[in-house]
Amino acid sequence: MTLAETANNTNSSNPFLTLNYESALESLGHDYYDEVAAAEFPQHILRWRNDALLPRLGLNPQIVKDEDFITAFGKFQGRKPLLALRYHGYQFGEYNSQLGDGRGFLYGQVRASDGQLYDFGTKGSGRTPYSRGGDGMLTLKGGVREVLAAEALHYLGVRTSRCLTMIETGLSLWRGDEPSPTRSSVMVRMGSSHIRFGTFERLHFFQRPDLTKKLLDHVIEQYYRHLVAEKDKYALFYAELVKRVAELVAQWMAAGFCHAVLNTDNMSITGESFDYGPYAFIPTYDPYFTAAYFDYYRRYCYSQQPSICQLNLEMLQEPLKAVIEQRDLDAGLASFGEYYQAEYRGLMLKKLGFEQLPYPEADELLHLAIAFLQKSQVGYHQFFYEMARTFSHKWRDEPASVMNDSDIVPALGAAAAIFDNWCVLYHKILNYFDPDDMENIAKTLAVYNPKTALLRPVIESTWESIAESDNWQPFYDLVEKFQLKH
Ligand code: AMP
Ligand code: MG
Repeated sequence: MTLAETANNTNSSNPFLTLNYESALESLGHDYYDEVAAAEFPQHILRWRNDALLPRLGLNPQIVKDEDFITAFGKFQGRKPLLALRYHGYQFGEYNSQLGDGRGFLYGQVRASDGQLYDFGTKGSGRTPYSRGGDGMLTLKGGVREVLAAEALHYLGVRTSRCLTMIETGLSLWRGDEPSPTRSSVMVRMGSSHIRFGTFERLHFFQRPDLTKKLLDHVIEQYYRHLVAEKDKYALFYAELVKRVAELVAQWMAAGFCHAVLNTDNMSITGESFDYGPYAFIPTYDPYFTAAYFDYYRRYCYSQQPSICQLNLEMLQEPLKAVIEQRDLDAGLASFGEYYQAEYRGLMLKKLGFEQLPYPEADELLHLAIAFLQKSQVGYHQFFYEMARTFSHKWRDEPASVMNDSDIVPALGAAAAIFDNWCVLYHKILNYFDPDDMENIAKTLAVYNPKTALLRPVIESTWESIAESDNWQPFYDLVEKFQLKH
């Protein structure tokens, strides 16, 4: 057998290469992408394989070999074309026409067992026409951080892309924000679409309403399929996008997640969360908490996320005007606040133990909880976890028994007064329920308030094990913990 034949042999038995790839985006034509080649790497060490995703691709994790991941997603053998997608975007409020996939490409699109079309999108796979001064690479720490964010958010119920695989690639990279030289990786993301708000903004920039309409038809056909036959499908699409984005940002807020870089090139047209760079989970409830060190004016701080997403949706109207009436766009956006509030309220009440809380006190309970968290600066995740950990049917007996087994309760000060009021109200609400309902409340608290939070010190200590002793076990253990409901 010749060398070429051996390679072909490996490829034909590689289940990733024989998936039923669809050319949905490719068939839109060259106005939307450039064909590129992947970088060749000196090393390929598989660091992450997301076996949980494989059954959705019709693959049995038992029979997919590590080598299959490496051949497909580290060496990029046997798959063409690889498409660097074209897009622009507003970055920190400024329009940037020099964007596009600068260190990634669309590897392929696959219809999963849920009937939805998914992208395999790379990050750190080499230079493209859009790399500008960049090296086209992803640091290993960047890869680790994105795997962790996506898995944590997924198990917290946030609608997010996930990482299919991450492979260490043996290069030394130089970065201003990591001790350098630092190790390199290539990551493959599985998500609903890599079409961004900025993909439409670029078409508007070049004054191509024809291409805008073509892309919009594609988006509706693939990702808003139930609207295809509707007479006013374009207006309905925008209204639904508004709803999806409002719900997504509510999910981030309830999870205590700060995305950090809500530029319009990081906003998916399907309303899915993706692209995790300098993100952070809030340690305490601080509205001004800002995750990116370069976000000098706190534009994307924790509490600004809903209004920034709303603003991004508003700016998206500019390109969409080519196809959708302004009054339809206005009507669609007008519901943002309502959708956001409904989702946020529902999620927070679940964190407080209630699947349903049809009592007028619900809003006051939530308001007091937030006021207490802000005033006390008790850990955001810790507070809810402690509720779940210490919940007892005895909390029905008297207000002073609420959370009295927890040591996070402040003894003095303004926060204590708020906490006391919150306890009185929580006790009162518990007494609206039957004693038999206490089990359900305990269960709801446990499901929505996991023990493990992906706070920065947790990420850093996980990374330290990798950086100092190449010990990956804490990383794998951490991912496992996201799945646990205590
Ligand atoms: P991000 O902040 O990851 O969303 O990236 C913003 C833009 O910068 C995108 O167009 C990226 O493709 C590009 N970019 C980020 N890092 C690099 C890099 N190391 N090399 C080339 N392009 C990059
Ligand atoms: Mg990005």
